[in-house]
Amino acid sequence: MSTILQDLYMPKPRLVCTTARPVACNACGRGVDDGRGIRALRTDGGDVMLCDLHYPKQ
Ligand SMILES: [Zn+2]
Repeated sequence: MSTILQDLYMPKPRLVCTTARPVACNACGRGVDDGRGIRALRTDGGDVMLCDLHYPKQ
């Protein structure tokens, strides 16, 4: 019986949200709230978020 109680009161693992940081352009700081489209650009130094204006044109 005690094992059942232990299962009931086991603390559930908390889901870690990795997308908590606001998505904003790393160049101008604007985000989707400003009507910008934000895209991630993979660089040698890591991923950077850039808006439509600052994302390098292909
Ligand atoms: Zn920008």
